[in-house]
Amino acid sequence: MTLRPLGAAPEKCMIGGRWISPANNECLSLINPSDGSVLCDIAKGSKEDIDQAVFAAESALQGIWGKTTAAERGRILARLGHLVLEHKDELATLEAQDVGKPYKQARADVLALARYMEFYAGAADKLHGETIPYLDGYTVYTLREPHGVTGHIIPWNYPMQIIGRSVGAALATGNACVLKPAEEACLTALAFAELANKAGLPDGALNVVPGLGSEAGAALTRHKGVHHISFTGSVEVGKLIQRTAADNVVPVTLELGGKSPQVVFEDADLDASLPFLVNAGIQNAGQTCSASSRILVHQSLYEEVVVKMAKRYNALQAGPAMDDWDVGPLVSHRQKQLVEGFLAKGEELELVGRGKILEDAPSGGAYVAPSLFAGVHPDHILAQDEIFGPVQVVIPFQDEDEAVAIANGTNFGLVASCWTTDGARQMRMAKKLRAGQVFLNNYGAGGGVELPFGGTGLSGHGREKGFEALYGFTTLKTVAALHG
Ligand code: NAP
Ligand code: MG
Repeated sequence: MTLRPLGAAPEKCMIGGRWISPANNECLSLINPSDGSVLCDIAKGSKEDIDQAVFAAESALQGIWGKTTAAERGRILARLGHLVLEHKDELATLEAQDVGKPYKQARADVLALARYMEFYAGAADKLHGETIPYLDGYTVYTLREPHGVTGHIIPWNYPMQIIGRSVGAALATGNACVLKPAEEACLTALAFAELANKAGLPDGALNVVPGLGSEAGAALTRHKGVHHISFTGSVEVGKLIQRTAADNVVPVTLELGGKSPQVVFEDADLDASLPFLVNAGIQNAGQTCSASSRILVHQSLYEEVVVKMAKRYNALQAGPAMDDWDVGPLVSHRQKQLVEGFLAKGEELELVGRGKILEDAPSGGAYVAPSLFAGVHPDHILAQDEIFGPVQVVIPFQDEDEAVAIANGTNFGLVASCWTTDGARQMRMAKKLRAGQVFLNNYGAGGGVELPFGGTGLSGHGREKGFEALYGFTTLKTVAALHG
């Protein structure tokens, strides 16, 4: 099939500024999960392609990219952000078709990608070291330097946003990147690489090698020429990556998802909270690392919240991504099977709300009806495991201590939210909730690119987004000069 996303060649890898066929000349098919059709073939990159990409990245650091000033890196990222905006409709269409994301949500991802470029463009020349008062006769200062070659292994759920936050920060700080997008969703990564060339990013500063995680991803993780790895995806693969990176003593940033709660107290403004309670669970069909899959409600409001959430669920409709229904398909039939496996484990639970799959939705699509369960015990598997589908559980609680115990009672700790009009309680809860981000009387804060993001526990470690990410993508050098 011939699909040329913004001029990119999907059956090839972007290495050293050129589209190159994979060494083994093998391809994978990219599926549109809205109807099961094949969108196009993509390269099945292997170790040889990763070797070439790392070599191209090293050459970029030795060459023009390594000599590019921080201000100029910022200008390139700014141009890239403008190009993303110029092509927002094409990028949103590619993402909607590739991932099954409803078109409006795909468009929001494009705007986020452009905003990441804008933010890191502005930040590139604002990161600096310090001078440190020291012994007489010394001058001591610190330098913030790029790691060198950074590896970026990203999932299929938010390709553009994750490219923006990891590749954007890595390029701003002068690293050269090798990106391995998910096999299920590569098109916007490839289109982005093409736009980066147009923006004047020097050859080899961004290389993209599509392929299987077990081949291209594993080769990138093992490669001795890679100096930092940024990974977003499953806990299982995250552990594997951390173990492998340990052999080369390479730092890793892991963003591994969560089981994020929203805690609704008896004094909450219910009207304000209700849209957030449901939307944070069904956005991107629940395939969001920071999805809110657990709703904890004080017993005095419990019945009312369940009834109101159920009403909303019963009105939800799942259908093709380009037609912009409340919920699109899941990314793949494999993901649909995973979610259906969880739903089967919830059969004995109280199903209080269920959305509909459109009657004329294509039969080859990977649709799952959004499902709301109430009265769920906090230890039930549906209240403990990350489902990554449009499924939420409602759990009652008696008092603040119990709410904190339930909220913190999973192995994850990515984000958490608390709905209360009591100011003192807001401050207490912000301290007590175990999470990398806490929201008071909102959920997600609109996803601002400025806001540092990352987890604790099984949600991972390290921070991306915001200015904080620039520290993670640099290493600190202390210089001590003895001059008498
Ligand atoms: P995954 O397997 O962890 O995939 C994430 C990325 O890692 C993909 O690019 C994948 O490549 C790559 N990968 C897989 N095996 C690898 C290996 N041995 N070495 C290096 N890279 C490797 O996640 P998934 O299979 O797509 O989804 C499974 C579950 O992960 C979901 O149900 C969800 O619970 C969780 N998940 C979480 C997030 C998040 O944002 N935290 C995102 C996605 C998924 P390929 O996929 O191309 O093989
Ligand atoms: Mg796809």
